Amino acid sequence: GAKSSGKNKYIFFNNEMIDRLKERMEIEEILRDSINNDGFVLYYQPIIDAKSYEVVSFEALLRLRNHNISPAKFIPIAEDTNLIVLIGEWVIKESLMQLKGWKEKGYKLKPIAINVSPAQIKDKSFPKKVEGMLEEFNIEPFYIELEITENIMLENHDDVINTLRQLKDIGVKIVLDDFGTGYSSINYLTYLPVDKVKLDKSLSDRFLTHDALIVKNLISFVKSLNLKVVAEGIETKVQRDLLKEIGCDFIQGYVFSKPVPSEEIESKFLE
Ligand code: C2E
Ligand code: MG
Ligand code: MG
Ligand code: MG
Repeated sequence: GAKSSGKNKYIFFNNEMIDRLKERMEIEEILRDSINNDGFVLYYQPIIDAKSYEVVSFEALLRLRNHNISPAKFIPIAEDTNLIVLIGEWVIKESLMQLKGWKEKGYKLKPIAINVSPAQIKDKSFPKKVEGMLEEFNIEPFYIELEITENIMLENHDDVINTLRQLKDIGVKIVLDDFGTGYSSINYLTYLPVDKVKLDKSLSDRFLTHDALIVKNLISFVKSLNLKVVAEGIETKVQRDLLKEIGCDFIQGYVFSKPVPSEEIESKFLE
């Protein structure tokens, strides 16, 4: 009635909203603290050739050293607060430092795929920064792959494409991550300057159902654009074998290895 709706006007926050806000503020504090106190660490997940099972590259995945909070939770907060720009720069430097370290230990290098957020791509000086960091650590651009999502298309299209072109001119590879989750993926693919497409786990999962044909046609389409295809989140041998059969180039997932610390990469996957 009138009385209760009148009362509701003054309730802007309920307990659940307050808890959520509190949690976000706590995580923001943890992120700031981690930037200043070496609180981040990179894990690496191998990406394998679908035919030979040879490890071809590694994806760098961010972790908090002292907190059990998943990236799915803290990355969006880092993005909302723009802390992702500083964190993202650390991720690139750390990856390059890792490559330099592996090189000095005499390992045969393999490329590292690095996730980058729209806010990083939005920065017009990003390609110059990447080029500078490659020079600083004396790493060839071939060893860096930047994973972007189609969220970057929420920024100015021409600027984004321009920045991606500059990165490709430097010699860095571009991967379209989480493909198949958005609305316009197929459309973007025809004009985004990318080298590789990574099928999202949600697609890999549908693969075993009656949607298998959709995934198969999607892979054919991507390959018709002369792009390489990676499938992520592959957990079973059945998925792995089917993907190989229909011409998927690379596979990433627990069936082969979960993301692991760099020492484990060295002992298991580097020569
Ligand atoms: P993503 O880039 O799509 O990374 C793949 C995610 O799938 C990773 O989750 C990985 O651990 C997980 N994964 C790999 N194989 C399997 C599997 O077989 N089964 C299942 N269930 N999961 C698998 P993670 O490490 O929790 O990262 C989640 C997301 O956070 C990433 O998704 C990426 O969008 C973001 N992220 C992680 N590190 C960074 C970073 O350094 N910078 C930015 N901007 N984003 C990052
Ligand atoms: Mg990724
Ligand atoms: Mg992905
Ligand atoms: Mg994903």
